[in-house]
Amino acid sequence: MPIKQNIAGKRFGRLLVIKEHGNVGGYIRWECICDCGKKCLKKVSSLNRGVTSCGCLQREIATKNHYSHGMSTTHFYRTYCSIKERCYNSNSHSYRWYGARGIKCLWESFEKFKNDMHASYLLHASKHGAKDTTIERVDNNVDYCKDNCCWTTKRLQGKNMRSNHYLTLNGETKTVSDWSRTIGISKGTIWKRGKEGLPVELILYPKKFRRG
Ligand SMILES: [Zn+2]
Repeated sequence: MPIKQNIAGKRFGRLLVIKEHGNVGGYIRWECICDCGKKCLKKVSSLNRGVTSCGCLQREIATKNHYSHGMSTTHFYRTYCSIKERCYNSNSHSYRWYGARGIKCLWESFEKFKNDMHASYLLHASKHGAKDTTIERVDNNVDYCKDNCCWTTKRLQGKNMRSNHYLTLNGETKTVSDWSRTIGISKGTIWKRGKEGLPVELILYPKKFRRG
């Protein structure tokens, strides 16, 4: 029997855990009351990961950012939001490739992200356009941070994959069809993951490269 944590009575930021709610979607949820008065259900893993409000805190931050940086409608700001989504929102469809593998966003605020990445973003966007300016991690097992991120054109990645149909992993180059046969996943799945802009090791071996 796995040891179940009893977290009733514990506080996580604005959230006070009331009692166990039961299993929802395969996970034990805990009923929490937020300082704002709203009740919500949270997983232990979310609380341990740093979820500290019913959602009201994020809304306050978003509103504040909206007024302070004036960039909330830009592609650059949406890039920051999508990093946060991938890393911390377990409902996001890409979460399994990022947050679930322990990948974090080390920029605590949009302001910090802007300080580190805006100049290089503008340079890339001036050459390729904002739409084709996508953030990429150099080392796939390292978090989102200044030293591990650069800007790239998603279209170019996709085009390379389509035009030559080759993928190289650890010095081994094969066609998509050959990889499909070797590892037993469908070509469609390989294409789909490729279109999501995932690195080759995650396209081919998502489980093997999952962080422990
Ligand atoms: Zn709240």
